[in-house]
Amino acid sequence: MSVPLAAEGSVLRAAAGAATVELAELSPPGGLLLVMPHPDDETLGCGQALAAAADAGRDIGLVLVTDGEGSHPGCHPGDIVGLRQAELEAALAVLSPGRAIAVLRLGLRDGHARRDALSGERWQALLGFAQSYDPRAVWTTSPLDPHCDHRAAHAIAHDLAEHCGAALWSVPVWGRFGERALPESELRLFEASALAERKRCALAAYRSQFTELIADPEAFRMPKPLLAHFAAHPEIFHRG
Ligand SMILES: [Zn+2]
Repeated sequence: MSVPLAAEGSVLRAAAGAATVELAELSPPGGLLLVMPHPDDETLGCGQALAAAADAGRDIGLVLVTDGEGSHPGCHPGDIVGLRQAELEAALAVLSPGRAIAVLRLGLRDGHARRDALSGERWQALLGFAQSYDPRAVWTTSPLDPHCDHRAAHAIAHDLAEHCGAALWSVPVWGRFGERALPESELRLFEASALAERKRCALAAYRSQFTELIADPEAFRMPKPLLAHFAAHPEIFHRG
């Protein structure tokens, strides 16, 4: 996936006229399960809504599809995994300060994740984790995202939501940029200005992704205008 340079595109234009959505609709009281492809997608895509859900006492679990080791191809994968885990823990502690959010790491290969890599005992273990939250809602990345790990996360979340009888909500991360078809379901916006600062603090935990922390010429680095966009823009959700 090539990284876009500007925060513009068909989804963002459509979102400008979208209706808002309240937390009670996104995550009714009870369990909430997130299925995210990489550490940082949960904060970029829905950090404010996640903080709101934590503040409202939702029982939250996070399934992490890959460890994100592919962000720095010039580094030892073990070093990157450890760093990104620590960043994720720090971000989640900011978003959910009252209660730790448990993370189930699936450990699929970054950049190559597929739904059908999970079957048999691996699928049963994942299903057991999901069912332990009795989720009323599952949040994941959107099938609009032009990234196989993000689409794999969506496919996994779709199947978990179906098994658990939970509502599925998707968050376009990369799919909001560029010209692409809109989802069949309407876009909805979540914004809680009182939580904006917590989202900015959680984003700041991801130093390996958003700063010059690691000298790797091949590394992924979020362009500054896009980071500013994610920090400031209302969060975009759609059903399914
Ligand atoms: Zn991602």
